[in-house]
Amino acid sequence: MTLSVKSENRTIQRHPPIVIAGAGPVGLYAAVLLVNAGHRVIVLEKNHDLPLDMRASTFHPSTLDLLGACGLADPLIFRGSIMQGWQYMIHGTKNHAVFDLECIRDATDHPFRLICEQYHFSNLAVEQLVRNPLFEIRFGHEIVSLENRQDRALLRLQTSTGEQEIETPWLIAADGGHSTVRGQLGLSFEHQSPPVTSISLVLNHPFENDVPGILGVNFVWTQNGFYSLRQIRDLWRFSYQPDPDLPIGEAVSEAATQSYLQALFPSLEPYEIQHRLHYTIQPGCLSSFRQGRVLFAGDAAHLESPAGGLGMNSGMHDAHCLVEHLLPVLDGADDDLLDRYSRRRRTIAIEEVQRLSAREERWRRETSPVKRAAIWQELLEIVSDDAKTREFLLDLSLIRSRQREADID
Ligand SMILES: Cc1cc2nc3c(=O)[nH]c(=O)nc-3n(C[C@H](O)[C@H](O)[C@H](O)COP(=O)(O)OP(=O)(O)OC[C@H]3O[C@@H](n4cnc5c(N)ncnc54)[C@H](O)[C@@H]3O)c2cc1C
Repeated sequence: MTLSVKSENRTIQRHPPIVIAGAGPVGLYAAVLLVNAGHRVIVLEKNHDLPLDMRASTFHPSTLDLLGACGLADPLIFRGSIMQGWQYMIHGTKNHAVFDLECIRDATDHPFRLICEQYHFSNLAVEQLVRNPLFEIRFGHEIVSLENRQDRALLRLQTSTGEQEIETPWLIAADGGHSTVRGQLGLSFEHQSPPVTSISLVLNHPFENDVPGILGVNFVWTQNGFYSLRQIRDLWRFSYQPDPDLPIGEAVSEAATQSYLQALFPSLEPYEIQHRLHYTIQPGCLSSFRQGRVLFAGDAAHLESPAGGLGMNSGMHDAHCLVEHLLPVLDGADDDLLDRYSRRRRTIAIEEVQRLSAREERWRRETSPVKRAAIWQELLEIVSDDAKTREFLLDLSLIRSRQREADID
């Protein structure tokens, strides 16, 4: 008797497919783990294709370690840029606080940040998934309502050919920050903090020739603002907070973005902006990641500021933890285990992920010279002490939170 035969019987004979709402990185990673464990999965995606989603660009070591286990780390690394070091800087001065991930080499197989757009992960995951007959993805299938029954979830879908219904023993709600599933169950976020608005530009410009001491990832204070500059292959992503008094449509216009860039990096030529996006996020978290037959993960469960690059990474960690708890339940274990999933990942979302992203956001937005001096001093103390650097990077790489997760009952 082999495990795989047992797993095939169990999957095909006992369970209708697990349905996943949303083909974002979180839903697709959950799908990879489930089909690899021998379970049938249907992913429902309202769009007609995978979007060219430019939001997340940072994959942390802890996430790359997870992806390594399912053969997705290496092809992803091939598509992005490896950054072993990154820094805080003060614009126009020689002040740098440089962090080197070499000091956590013993804690990860990937002691670097990978800078790579999130759509590369989604594409790679689907390329791998479609080779598995247990997997199905239905594009153009939008969940419009659902009933959370005692033994299953019943979904109603809008498709190009009309309405459909589908039921599943467990629905994984990975349908993003505006989650329809969350709304349909009458749930909203707790722990909300004020919204943050930012603009992100993808530029074809050799900043490496212009800015002395630049690294591949830079978080930079200007006199009264902040920007980040990240290199993705031969392009740069430049993100900043627009003037809050300017309507966002105006702030993101060609004229306003060019003038913002020119003020920081005067150039005779206009900048070649290949892509621009703006976003407003109001951080928050669900009171529980489980509601009966529905299991929430990723942005559908908790939202944080993009500062720190933690949303997608922690969402994929949610998916990993969720599947770890769901597999025994599919094998007959008590479904109370799924409440433990919720306790574990909700605690991590609030006490680790949101704490870290809020701290990053606060540091970046600080404009008071006195408070900035204190933050800078703190940063210098961290980078000049190996033990402190290590602690800092274990936290920010979400290695510590993955270790802590297992200790939460
Ligand atoms: C500018 C920016 C930069 C960021 N940078 C980083 C970063 O560097 N690192 C990081 O970790 N995070 C980052 N994030 C956060 C990251 O983008 C999100 O956390 C991540 O996309 C969440 O993944 P998800 O799968 O939960 O949701 P999503 O990626 O939003 O995917 C949800 C999917 O569900 C589908 N869907 C929605 N409603 C329905 C429905 N009713 N029926 C069917 N399908 C539906 C959507 O079409 C979508 O495909 C950033 C965010 C922003 C805005």
